[in-house]
Amino acid sequence: MARLSAVFFDIDDTLYSTSEFARRARANSIDAMIAAGLEVDSRQLSAELDEVIAEFSSNYSYHFDKLMARVPPEALGGHNPAMIVAAAVVAYHETKFRELRPYDDVPGLLADLAASDVTTGIITAGPTVKQAEKLVRLDVARYLAGNAIFISDQIGISKPNPKLYMRALNTVGVQPHEAMYVGDNPPNDIDPPKSLGMITVLSRRSGKYSEVPCLSKPDYTISSFTELREILRTDFALDV
Ligand SMILES: [Mg+2]
Repeated sequence: MARLSAVFFDIDDTLYSTSEFARRARANSIDAMIAAGLEVDSRQLSAELDEVIAEFSSNYSYHFDKLMARVPPEALGGHNPAMIVAAAVVAYHETKFRELRPYDDVPGLLADLAASDVTTGIITAGPTVKQAEKLVRLDVARYLAGNAIFISDQIGISKPNPKLYMRALNTVGVQPHEAMYVGDNPPNDIDPPKSLGMITVLSRRSGKYSEVPCLSKPDYTISSFTELREILRTDFALDV
């Protein structure tokens, strides 16, 4: 029976439906901008926002400011653009407070892993506080080992560089073949840890990467954490 000492998870579209959440939050922001007086058709505004996100990345902090810089000045209808941006930001955050939740089967498995002798951690790419905030808001921080949270911006190494995964293994003190990584993005989450000899699990539950091919074959492909639980029980003799 293969031995497992650590399980690391990706956050976005692995612990919660980032794509679905972002879609709803952005739609609410656009409605709020129009309600605040912006005279642009919501479909047009939405398309423009998608362009801003594509051009400046999804983790950029000033999407709505850029959006306002791109609309015709007369669309402001005499309003201060800062007020329109603020309406969008508030609507986005309110959606976050109300709707940011892990997938139903995530907290139970993390709790059971935390109670086992397997180190449970995170390896994620993104801005330090933003990624940490997600773990707190998803209410999963209490299941994670304090020394096993690795955020690319904080470490200065990002996906898909295998050194990010190597840093996690070295810090926690586990061999690659005793460590599992669970993520949804094949080039970022499967190929690099696989190249080190880690056990890889591709989550095909949701998100924009669900159809992207892998260079290397993941050890497992799952569509729920119920399936992951079964793998941990059957192939690794974990009592979870
Ligand atoms: Mg992801």
